[in-house]
Amino acid sequence: MSVQIEALFTSALGLQPPWAVRHVRLDTAKHRIDFDVECKQALLACPACGAASQKVHDRMQRSWRHLDFFQYEAWLHADVPRVKCSSCGKTTQINVPWAREGSGFTLLFEALALTMCQDLPVRQAAQSLRVRDKQLWRRIEHYVTEARKQQDMRQVRIVGECRQQTRWPDVQIRRWSDGEFGRRRG
Ligand SMILES: [Zn+2]
Repeated sequence: MSVQIEALFTSALGLQPPWAVRHVRLDTAKHRIDFDVECKQALLACPACGAASQKVHDRMQRSWRHLDFFQYEAWLHADVPRVKCSSCGKTTQINVPWAREGSGFTLLFEALALTMCQDLPVRQAAQSLRVRDKQLWRRIEHYVTEARKQQDMRQVRIVGECRQQTRWPDVQIRRWSDGEFGRRRG
């Protein structure tokens, strides 16, 4: 594809320098569009200590599922640089702006998936998004844990626990509440 097409998709994906789309592969038979994204810079800031202009040591190939482009399943691929830092001595992979560290989904795809899970059973949301429900459960656990960390529990003095037996002998629902105010905690 032409340079203009790559520039167009760089903009459509919201990429900023040093990141840009290098190549676009459209497979109409498989209903899939793949974007090869690159970071050309040879010197980058160290993600561990922030030291500027550190050498790129190597690059690790990574892929992320992104929001569909119309009827095409979209994927981003990039060789993500690892920086060898002369200041702190660590070799660290840089964070990409479109995804959480270690996630195979872009942030936008995660946002859509979590929004769908608020209204649909997780299995149904997974089917709609063409992913495994385990992949969604992992993200729900991550974001619920993060949200819990931000909850201020300093005012809680009494904690209540309510256990409810389900129709499955091994499964019990446990609900925790703030005993003083009756607010349910989970
Ligand atoms: Zn460093």
